[in-house]
Amino acid sequence: MICTHDNKKKIYAFDSTSIWQCADCAIIFSEKGREPFDSKELYNTYYYKNEIAGRFNWWLELVVKAFRFFRAFKIFTISPRARSILDIGSGRGFMLCYLKKFYRYKRAAGTQISRGAFEFSRDKLGLEMYDRDLLELDFPDASFDLVTLWHVFEHIREPERYLKKIRNMLTKKGKLVIEVPNFGSWTRKLTGRYWLGLDVDYHIYFFTPSALCMLLKKYGFKIKLVHTFSLEYSTFISAQSIISLLTRSDQFFFRYLQVEKATSMNLRVFGHMLLFLVISPLCFIVNILLFFSKKGEVLLVIAEK
Ligand SMILES: [Zn+2]
Repeated sequence: MICTHDNKKKIYAFDSTSIWQCADCAIIFSEKGREPFDSKELYNTYYYKNEIAGRFNWWLELVVKAFRFFRAFKIFTISPRARSILDIGSGRGFMLCYLKKFYRYKRAAGTQISRGAFEFSRDKLGLEMYDRDLLELDFPDASFDLVTLWHVFEHIREPERYLKKIRNMLTKKGKLVIEVPNFGSWTRKLTGRYWLGLDVDYHIYFFTPSALCMLLKKYGFKIKLVHTFSLEYSTFISAQSIISLLTRSDQFFFRYLQVEKATSMNLRVFGHMLLFLVISPLCFIVNILLFFSKKGEVLLVIAEK
């Protein structure tokens, strides 16, 4: 039975939407996100609009590629014998490309509804790509050893239907890897509505470690690992959230870094950058100290069929 979240209480109110928590399943969700919308249109407007330059400034793009290599390595350590993977919302496909190149993957498939990123992955990287939502695709049972969703699960309108479908697509003892912002994180509690992980224009669902594990168990998955530190995201999300709280302002630095949201350099962006220099090292230390807690910034769950 898919939860309809009828028994809910309001957590935050924004102009565009409000955020609620379901008392039955503990999942947190944005009211607006659950209404029907054209996801292709939403993600084509700026996500990966420019497939050559990518989403960020050029120097940050190099960092992103290094992190995608690290992600491929992580996948290899999670499941060394896996030879097939489906990455849902596969960005521009760099992780899949590295898995094929360096880790002898026979099948590396991705789904991507942003046109530019889809064409880049298919034409430039030669990957097996699908430009539709997972629920519109037909994969035979036991098609993949691994299914991954990196910062995608919080964007999906029907997460429970996804889990049901993914379970069928996995081979016996196949692994599911989900990474999302951690709603139970120390900065979400500290900064509230200024927390960068809310990103209410795009995010629909929010998860604490226990709520996500409960949901996975409901669909027959065994939880193999839960942790809440990400070298790529933790420090940045913590620092930007705290700076936004301190200055009672928008995520200027985050916007500045993104090509399509194009905030040009101005005094406020510069001010945020200076604060970043001071606050980032502290955030890095706090996130490291919280490594073994469930209060870190980013939630990674590895589950097995
Ligand atoms: Zn619910």
